Amino acid sequence: KGMSRYFTAAAVDEAITPPVRINYTKLLINGQFIDSASGKTFPTLDPRTGEVIANVAEAEAEDVNRAVSAARKAFDEGPWPKMSAHDRSKILLKFVDLLEKHSEELAALETWDNGKPFERSVNDDIPLMIRCFRYYAGWADKIHGLTVPADGPHQVQTLHEPIGVVGQIIPWNFPLLMFAWKVAPALACGNTVVLKTSEQTPLSALLASKLLHEAGLPPGVLNVILGYGPTVGAPIASHMNVEKLAFTGSTDTGKIVLELAAKSNLKSVTLELGGKSPLIVCEDADVDKAVETAHSALFYNQGQCCSAGSRTFVHERVYSEFVEKARELALKRVVGDPFKKGVQQGPQIDSEQFEKILKYINFGIKSGATLEAGGERFGSKGYYVQPTVFSSVEDDMPIARDEIFGPVQSISKFRDLNEVIGRANATYFGLAAGVFTKDLDNANMLSRALRVGTVWVNCYNVFDASIPFGGYKMSGNGREKGIYGLGNYLQVKSVVTPLKNPAWL
Ligand code: NAD
Repeated sequence: KGMSRYFTAAAVDEAITPPVRINYTKLLINGQFIDSASGKTFPTLDPRTGEVIANVAEAEAEDVNRAVSAARKAFDEGPWPKMSAHDRSKILLKFVDLLEKHSEELAALETWDNGKPFERSVNDDIPLMIRCFRYYAGWADKIHGLTVPADGPHQVQTLHEPIGVVGQIIPWNFPLLMFAWKVAPALACGNTVVLKTSEQTPLSALLASKLLHEAGLPPGVLNVILGYGPTVGAPIASHMNVEKLAFTGSTDTGKIVLELAAKSNLKSVTLELGGKSPLIVCEDADVDKAVETAHSALFYNQGQCCSAGSRTFVHERVYSEFVEKARELALKRVVGDPFKKGVQQGPQIDSEQFEKILKYINFGIKSGATLEAGGERFGSKGYYVQPTVFSSVEDDMPIARDEIFGPVQSISKFRDLNEVIGRANATYFGLAAGVFTKDLDNANMLSRALRVGTVWVNCYNVFDASIPFGGYKMSGNGREKGIYGLGNYLQVKSVVTPLKNPAWL
């Protein structure tokens, strides 16, 4: 079926030199960039070539201790939790100005380390990051408790206080945006932070954190440590002096950190985990719009989105038309060096993900799904995968069950809405869903019936900072972003005072 009709202008053999210099490669502890206690380093690789971009400091448990001590001191003795919320807000807003000034540099680091198209880093990741910090800077001086009408002669107030030292562990697919979702609300609420970036993408968060200090963040309030999960993530999750943990990553690792938190000090844990999100195209949908949105719902960010619309259910009346158009779109997708103009899809993050995706494509072929487009690596260097589309996908196939985290679209046919609701919900995940219909009653019914944290109706992947995001079932617990995101980083204290003259109750 003409598998190799790819846009060839975007060659991948000669990697374009990124327009940025790497200035920060060390751990950021107590406001200083320092080597790890052991002096070890590890390489971060260019997904376009597999070559080393830079060697960065490799933290271990001792560095976690140093970072937690700095954060503890900054919380217990420093100005941050005690300064006026308005002053905290001003520092965060100054940081936003610096982010705007350095946005191209940040975007270039993001693309170099992660592989996502530079145009996307410039137009999506950085603006969403800026919006998130501005949003929570706006909240900082609007956080307050309530006066509670108690049953009796008492005055009761609630105080909303920062929790203390917060541990945060983030993945590689949106390094700066995940930094923003974690750090912005934690700081706005007055906490101090120990953040571990992903070992695949350590670079951009260091530049962002440098700018945050330039904006006036006191030392020790945000500490950024680099390294691997078992040697850095685990010591954070089990640290007795870390009072809250926020984690984004795979469901398997989520289980590990939750157990570590339970076995240490019972710190509260927010988890944003994997997904296998259904996207339902009803018979009355605008098919062209649905095909286009379903395409970007899956292929956006090389398919490396926790919310990827990775199970596309299409009503039988529009199924053939949908499949043909989805195939055409995939064949037209521009794959290539992410620094090249017009490129829509760069390489996958690393060889492990690349191999895993090709393995799943093979499972798809072997289990009898119809390969409509793609199916192979793209080029001969780096971790590029052809945009791949399967039709006639059955629910029990591995490509329909497991999170692939790559550019592999799976399309299935359905007949009626009750059937598709059952099939869409028949998964341990529950992160997001898409619904395409012009019928308001069906949109409302499906929105309520789907057991997921976000339903996008006639749209997908809308990620404004004000919209809460998180999972049902094994996609995690808690919500990030929006007003709900503040609750992750606040303690509620009740203060009860007797009223001397109950006549004035
Ligand atoms: P991962 O779970 O391997 O890694 C995530 C982070 O956890 C990394 O910083 C890693 O170093 C750390 N880690 C790994 N092992 C650890 C351990 N034993 N103890 C403590 N920390 C440990 O996941 P990944 O491969 O980086 O990211 C891809 C996964 O993340 C996908 O499954 C995706 O669905 C999920 N994800 C979810 C969301 C969301 O918001 N729900 C967002 C992005 C990614």
